[in-house]
Amino acid sequence: MRLRTLLGETADLEKAGAVLGWDQQTYMPPDAAGSRSAQMVTLATLAYDRFVNDEVGQLLERLSHDVEALPYDSFARSLIRVTRRKYQRERKLSRDLVGKLAEATTLGHHGWLQAREQNRFEVFCPYLERIVDLVVQKAEALGYPECRYDALLDEFEPEMRTSRVEALFSQLKEALVPLVQAIRPQVAQVDDSFLHRHFDEKKQWDFGLAVLQAMGFDFRRGRMDSTVHPFTTAFSPTDVRITTHVVPDNLASCLFSVVHEGGHALYEQGIPLEFERTPLGEAPSFGVHESQSRLWENLVGRSRPFWRHFLPVAQSFFPAELRGVDLEAMYRAVNRVEPSLIRTDADEVTYNLHIFVRFDLERQLVDGKLAVKDLPEAWNALMQDYLGVVPRNPREGVLQDVHWSDGSIGYFPSYTLGNLLAVQFFDQARKECPGLEDEMAAGRFGTLKKWLNERIHALGGKYTPAELVSRVTGTELQAEPYIRYIRSKYGEIYGL
Ligand code: ZN
Repeated sequence: MRLRTLLGETADLEKAGAVLGWDQQTYMPPDAAGSRSAQMVTLATLAYDRFVNDEVGQLLERLSHDVEALPYDSFARSLIRVTRRKYQRERKLSRDLVGKLAEATTLGHHGWLQAREQNRFEVFCPYLERIVDLVVQKAEALGYPECRYDALLDEFEPEMRTSRVEALFSQLKEALVPLVQAIRPQVAQVDDSFLHRHFDEKKQWDFGLAVLQAMGFDFRRGRMDSTVHPFTTAFSPTDVRITTHVVPDNLASCLFSVVHEGGHALYEQGIPLEFERTPLGEAPSFGVHESQSRLWENLVGRSRPFWRHFLPVAQSFFPAELRGVDLEAMYRAVNRVEPSLIRTDADEVTYNLHIFVRFDLERQLVDGKLAVKDLPEAWNALMQDYLGVVPRNPREGVLQDVHWSDGSIGYFPSYTLGNLLAVQFFDQARKECPGLEDEMAAGRFGTLKKWLNERIHALGGKYTPAELVSRVTGTELQAEPYIRYIRSKYGEIYGL
């Protein structure tokens, strides 16, 4: 039908932009930023034109009556429902604003890289000022129920409200802040020094590939490349790209980013091909997507069963470096808790505190309560409040994350929501698949992957995040299961 053609062409243009974006973050030479920005603007505005026009609006209007009698989760009715939501949102944005955002964020990414290289926030400041200004314009154009941040949050977490995030976060703060304080004097109880010996980069890469293979990543429909800030992008379920970075004196860094991005990749590879080139070919939210990466990274990758199988494998890659390390030592080392500066390297207990910092700052930025130039100072103050550590320079502080340079303001809460969902989903998988952890200890992840494929990935974007969580777990998104999990796991490790 005509609508499918238009949606397919829109998706093709978006995916072509994604290929350029992937290239920009992997292999593009630095001086190409200006030309790439022009190419991205052209693709973004063409995609906008293809989708945001009266013809699509009229087709959606007409077809929504035609599909009314079909089951709620049928392909056709889901497609119209989800596409209408996207359409109603995007038509509020002008073509001019979409183009300006594409330009500012492509240049902003380049500015961020330069600022990181020079370790100077002032280099990034004018780019970010421009981006914040445009993002505020976007929020105003979209409108919001309670506060400006709602409009931005909605892009990443459909139907989520800032007030609900605040309530969940304050519940988490109440549990996590005292826990971090209790662990603090005990930090030295757990030794992870052997993870910081020198690990050959090529062998780390190959070890990562071996783990990815065991997880069930399909290398005929994806590949792994190197980048500054690891991410996953998919051009189709048949072409899923993960990226990682190898740090010679940190075995955990590359490994866990591979497992993390692998979790994202299994999601993308698990989306049915029939959903491709439609809005149903996407996860319901970034938090739901993140639940998959965090589930693999933490509930699987930082578990005893995982290391029962993978410790001997790691030792076969690094016989000298890991000689004499036993299962308990490895389990404790990969779960060492220590307030630190870099979010992506943070342990499970302190991780969410990094998100609270960004959530607080983002709301102040979009509400005009904080000027971009004052960000480094505000960042450092909040790091002191939540984590008790202060960055010595912008690279290990305010310049560490790529998100703001990409205009992704409103994204960070998805990480914590993903952490909560990861625990809820994993609890459910364990309930429904007895023997799951025994299989994991034998290096077999097929049952878990199949469960995730069937219960979550195969549904694509048919449901809202709230509908999906309720379908899979029978309850809503909650903080309690996560708090229980963290307390029990780290209570045992630190003898609290
Ligand atoms: Zn992720």
